[in-house]
Amino acid sequence: MNILITGGAGFIGTNLAEFHINRGDTVVAVDDLSTGSLNNISELVEHEGFTFFEADFLKWNRLTEEVAKADRIYHLAAVVGMFRVIQEPTTVIRVNVCGTERLLETAANCKSKAQIIVASSSSVYGHKHHSKDLREDNDLTYSPEEGGLTGYALSKLVNEVQARAYCHEHGLRVIIPRFFNVVGPHQTGTYGFVIPRFIQQALAGQPLTVFGDGNQIRSFCDVRDMIKSLDQLAKIGTGPDSSVCGKAINVGNTREIRIIDLAKMVIARTGSSSEIMFVPFDEAYGEHFDQITQRKPNVDKLKHLTGFTPEWTLEETIDDLLKKNLTGGILQCA
Ligand code: UDP
Repeated sequence: MNILITGGAGFIGTNLAEFHINRGDTVVAVDDLSTGSLNNISELVEHEGFTFFEADFLKWNRLTEEVAKADRIYHLAAVVGMFRVIQEPTTVIRVNVCGTERLLETAANCKSKAQIIVASSSSVYGHKHHSKDLREDNDLTYSPEEGGLTGYALSKLVNEVQARAYCHEHGLRVIIPRFFNVVGPHQTGTYGFVIPRFIQQALAGQPLTVFGDGNQIRSFCDVRDMIKSLDQLAKIGTGPDSSVCGKAINVGNTREIRIIDLAKMVIARTGSSSEIMFVPFDEAYGEHFDQITQRKPNVDKLKHLTGFTPEWTLEETIDDLLKKNLTGGILQCA
């Protein structure tokens, strides 16, 4: 298969590229290296099936050519990471919304029959959850007070609407996974992601920075489990059961953990003597930050469609990251 990955030198993109190269596919990756890095793909570029283009996706002049060749497209190019999302609200809208429009419009013009995966996010559920277990058909509530975060959440919701529209009007085969706290190799803590930050801090003997009181709850999904389910969804998306086209589908792990317990788990597994330091949310993210207290996916739909059960436990993911970091230094964190 010919695979095109936008955001192909980022955390998820790199893992996807490795997955497809190992399967014998040809991969073209494009990335502006704003959060992705050449470090991530240093081994991939040695492989003849892998081609990398450093480019701003909004201006990439090979897009039509590469879309026309692709059997599957993963659209991941986006502004991600809490710190970036808060600091660069206009870039969020420009890159996330205009980038997705450009991709879908190009695919429609090419009459593409590719399986197209447009990445969405659990952030579309907003801050005001009415249930603990977030389902795809939940009503969504946003507060304009939450500035940058609402901009990000809405950009991802617009991506879903764009994908659905191109599906219906142009027959594109688009699936829309909503990712919940994905974690794994090549994720950097530089832009805020908690697990690489905690691991780096523990390994350096620095205090682990728990934001707020640490009682907020998340559900972490290993990127390799996520990739498997994306692969299955993409196949269904072009098969006889095309009911997945244009529909949002939660992709995540249902195990929950409080952030304070995550910090303790990382300290225990690294054998670190680091302490825990509580950092108020406004110091971490700026004023008027409203933390999401709990975010757990309901994965009934994913299970029904793919039979998905995660293989990686959180402990195994952390141990694997530790092992890889000791050999390759993959968790760089500012
Ligand atoms: N967090 C933390 N310390 C850090 C970074 C993050 O306590 O150094 C918290 C953050 O406030 C959130 C959780 O860890 O409650 C997950 O953060 P991340 O940015 O990884 O994902 P989010 O769920 O916020 O999108």
